[in-house]
Amino acid sequence: MELKRIKQLIREDKLVKFYQCKEWRKLRLKILKRDNYECQTCKRNGKVGKAENVHHIKEVKKYPELALVEDNLECICIPCHNEEHDRLKEIHKPKFMNEERW
Ligand SMILES: [Zn+2]
Ligand SMILES: [Zn+2]
Repeated sequence: MELKRIKQLIREDKLVKFYQCKEWRKLRLKILKRDNYECQTCKRNGKVGKAENVHHIKEVKKYPELALVEDNLECICIPCHNEEHDRLKEIHKPKFMNEERW
């Protein structure tokens, strides 16, 4: 999939189409095999988790050029994946302006 197309999908909020494309499906299988289906986040925490997802270390939305770069991908289990994205959301959440309360 071309970068132009990925950027277009981001603009249209249709990234799901990226995840459905043959190229991604092939690549994600390759990454799962590369990491032996082990969750890399669990691994870093000294645990073992069975990975079922492949996670973009740098978000596709912000770094579409890294969408299909193997170094930007790692295997992750579903609970870690949810946590990872919650954490990202937290960072991007606009900070409440405390000053206005006083
Ligand atoms: Zn995990
Ligand atoms: Zn992810």
